This record gives sequence, structure tokens and C-alpha cells, in this order.
Amino acid sequence: MSALSLHDLYLARQRIHGLVRSTPLELSPSLSRHLGTPVYLKLEALQTTGSFKLRGASNAIAALSAEQRACGVVTASTGNHGRAVAHAAAQLGVKATVFLSQLVPANKVQAIRDLGAEVCIVGHSQDDAQQAAQQHAEQQGATLIPPFDHPQVIAGQGTLGLEIIEQLPEVEQVLIPLSGGGLFAGVALAMKSIKPAITTHGISMQRGAAMYASLQAGKPVEVEELPTLADSLGGGIGLGNQHTLSMTQRLLDQLHLLPEASIANGMRHAYQHERLVLEGAGAVGIAALLDGLVTARGPVVVVVSGRNVDSAQHQRVINGGDA
Ligand SMILES: *Cc1c(COP(=O)(O)O)cnc(C)c1O
Repeated sequence: MSALSLHDLYLARQRIHGLVRSTPLELSPSLSRHLGTPVYLKLEALQTTGSFKLRGASNAIAALSAEQRACGVVTASTGNHGRAVAHAAAQLGVKATVFLSQLVPANKVQAIRDLGAEVCIVGHSQDDAQQAAQQHAEQQGATLIPPFDHPQVIAGQGTLGLEIIEQLPEVEQVLIPLSGGGLFAGVALAMKSIKPAITTHGISMQRGAAMYASLQAGKPVEVEELPTLADSLGGGIGLGNQHTLSMTQRLLDQLHLLPEASIANGMRHAYQHERLVLEGAGAVGIAALLDGLVTARGPVVVVVSGRNVDSAQHQRVINGGDA
């Protein structure tokens, strides 16, 4: 497949219309005061299923042929991607199977079942679940929907960037949480295609930033996965990465790595000043601004990517803990 273009993002938007919410872009008075320039929050935490991942999953499933749809879709994600695939498939009348390891807590398993997916519990690690999902895809003819390194997933996430440009044409800088890079690649492609002078910031955590290590090495590398408040940013970029590493190399202006205390601070600020309950990954852009990592120059948009946080953990952070 040739490189993704702006045209693919418009096709994606057409395809997911009615499946995905167009989310609000809201001025943050407190962050604007802090930075000395207007700061807007793109509230993708308010997306259906609680994260932007519904955009990519909906686009990838909606783009399948009738034959492919009839054979169902499969994934091994425990987190926001698994929720998104389950929800999108149900909306489109496609059978979804989600493979989870025995380590996944019962409440997460039930949440994915509640969204209408069939859950298969296999093995003792995420790798076991991933392998079983691949095997299921090969044996049943089901289509594997990957969480980020897939053209239709990237194009779906890119619809978020199209919305930002339309909601705030004068935007000069954008802050985007960065893990596997599907969100970053899609949003940065949309915004730089329309407005090349925009400055893009990718934000990762210090603990286990696989994209950062891969950019440094010039090829996909594995990093040790460590517990972090931004758990949705954990995991590798895939040693066989096809799309998101090269797109990130091309579209990224600045990369920031945050310590856990900063991520906690971002979550607290979101709660106390914006009245938002955010998961760690959703708060890294706010945290980067509070840490003074971004120079004030023109209107800034922060992509607030998700809200699916365990409520006990959220409460601990709000009460001053950072773990
Ligand atoms: C998946 C996810 C990210 C990172 O997206 P990538 O495409 O993997 O870079 C950021 N925030 C939230 C809430 C997520 O679920």
C-alpha cells in the first residue's frame, strides 16, 4: 500500500460518520494563563468508549469487504483498543472475538463482554493472547485489527486532526500522546498536510518509551515494559513496524518524556481545574505544559486522549500519590 494521504483521512471520516462522536475543543483558562497563550483541549476523553481508539477501530472494520465482515474480527487488546473493537464491531453487526490472558482482571473481562464481544481466556501473558488471536485469524479467516500499525487505523485516528483544524484554523502547536504512534501519525498527517507550519509535540512517559528508543535507534527496538500511570502508553511498537515509525520520523518536531510525578500532576490539574477525570495517558499533554516543556507561540491544542482509569487509582493520584 502506498503512503497514506490526506485523501485517506477524508475517506475515513466519511466511513465512520455516525459511528464516532465529533468531540468538543474547549479553551482552558487555567492553562492559557499558565502558558501566556491560548490553550485548547481536544476532549477525546468524551469519545464513545472513553478514548479516540474508536475512530481507528471503526474505520478499519467499516473498510472490510462483506466477505471479511462475515468472518468477524479479532484482537488481543485488554485496554482501550479492545473496547473500541468490541463496540465498533457490535455497531457494524460484525462478530468480534477478544483474546485475553488469565491475568486480565475480571472487571476488564466483563467490560469487554458487556460491549458485545466474545471473550476467550488463554495463557498467562499478553504474548500468549496475541498469539492465540493470530492463530484464530488464520484458522477462522477472521481479520486481525491491530491497535496502531495499520493504515486504516491510522487514517481513523487522523480524523481527530481534521476536526482540530476545522475547529481552530489558527492553531500553531499540537501536543499528542505517543505510544505505538497511530494517534500521532494520523493527527500529525492531517494537521501538517493542511497547515505545514504547525509544530507537533509527541508526549511519552520516561518509563518504557518504545517509540523514543526506536527513533533514537533508527529502527524498531524493544524496551522493558514498566508499570506507569500512563498505562495506555505502554508496550512496544512492534519489531516489524511498517507505518507508524516512519511517519513519526517524518512528522514529529519535538518529543517529550515525562516522569511519573508529572503525569500525576497532569491528572490532578485536569480534575481540579478542568473538572475532567482522565487516565494518565490522557493527561500527558497537560502535564507537559505544566512542566514548561512547550514554548508559548500561537494557539496550542492538547489532545486529551482518554479517561479509562481505575477509580481507586484515580483517587490515590488526586489525593497526592503518584503511583
Ligand atoms: C492508545 C492510547 C494512546 C496512544 O496511542 P498510540 O496510537 O498507541 O500512540 C494514548 N492515549 C490513550 C488514552 C490510548 O488509549
